Amino acid sequence: MDFYMPVRMFSGEETVKAHAEIFRTYGARCAVICGKHAARESGAFDDVDTVFREQGIECFLWDGVTENPPVSACREAGLFAFENGADYLLGIGGGSALDAAKAAAVFAANPELTEDGFYQKAWKNDPLPILLIGTTSGTGSEVTKVSVLTDSKGKKHSIHDDRLYAAAAFGDARYTHSLSRRLTLTTGVDILAHALESYLSRKADEITRAFSVRALRLAYKPIAAAAEGKELKDEERRALYEASILAGLAINTTGTCFPHNVGYFLTETRGVPHGFASAAFLPDLVELAAEEDADYLVRLFWQTDLSECLLKELIEPLLAEEKISMTEAEIDEALPRWENNGSVKNTRASVGTKEIREILVRKFVR
Ligand code: NAP
Ligand code: ZN
Repeated sequence: MDFYMPVRMFSGEETVKAHAEIFRTYGARCAVICGKHAARESGAFDDVDTVFREQGIECFLWDGVTENPPVSACREAGLFAFENGADYLLGIGGGSALDAAKAAAVFAANPELTEDGFYQKAWKNDPLPILLIGTTSGTGSEVTKVSVLTDSKGKKHSIHDDRLYAAAAFGDARYTHSLSRRLTLTTGVDILAHALESYLSRKADEITRAFSVRALRLAYKPIAAAAEGKELKDEERRALYEASILAGLAINTTGTCFPHNVGYFLTETRGVPHGFASAAFLPDLVELAAEEDADYLVRLFWQTDLSECLLKELIEPLLAEEKISMTEAEIDEALPRWENNGSVKNTRASVGTKEIREILVRKFVR
């Protein structure tokens, strides 16, 4: 085992207010990084505002985060924090806002840094301290050293670095109550993708498998209920949030497998939300992994009450709603990106560009 995750993670009802003093530890000037709606609609920003008033913390708000955040916007946010003399950054939102805050903290400490320099990790100074408040049950970005950003050519990359860990993160499942059915699903299926891909990663170990199994046990039923159009109960929202953190802990150690990387292609070219885009390939992952080691999968399904069939029944209708189609020529053009790709090689199955081509053709060529 090789487990390292230094984020101080708090979760529970009213956790932000209950740990008000933590915020002051990082300074008196905070740059809040978020999108246009979620921070306010979720109620998280109101709680932060109360804490900041109580603790005498000055707030500088940068609310320009968009989905799949471009690195250019993170640079803008970082320079905003620098120019306002921020002591630390607080990201509020889903994975996009949290990942943007992580990258902005690098730019805030290195105002001369270019976008290329960011990717090359030419970071002279360590990032400013990062605090995070999650508002989706999905990415688990609260506890990962990862920031997934879009470059100037529209391509998604995940940057992994121990310096991107938050100093502290807060999760209150009440913030996820404002998610629509569609957002609950698009973000929620990412939990299944993280847990399954981590379990089927070549780097999985006893700790990560324990996180994966627990995450699947907690998340599958609420997600299936949301897919059926049912309103989620408070305890189901709580279970989903806890599952997203557990699955985040799992991928933080193991990384993801081919579904996430092939999913980036669907997001970049078709605008498919990240969770759906990754989960789209889970039935294919399971099928290929079963060919390599069926017993290993049986042990997972036995512990989680999940099955290949249930997974297909959940994912396939969601994907059908996206109405994705592509040509064989487009697929052939994209294939080189998966040669020697880390996530593809990390998959505990015999998979390469030949298999990825077959999957894309079978699913999307009409
Ligand atoms: P997201 O892109 O952060 O958010 C999707 C939409 O949901 C946004 O419009 C957002 O609004 C809205 N939203 C968020 N919380 C809400 C709430 N409580 N109520 C109402 N609306 C809300 O979605 P996500 O799935 O959480 O994050 C996806 C991103 O994370 C992708 O870029 C993915 O690659 C990345 N990711 C990162 C990691 C990691 O470890 N760092 C892992 C997996 C995925 P606003 O625009 O107002 O915020
Ligand atoms: Zn993901």
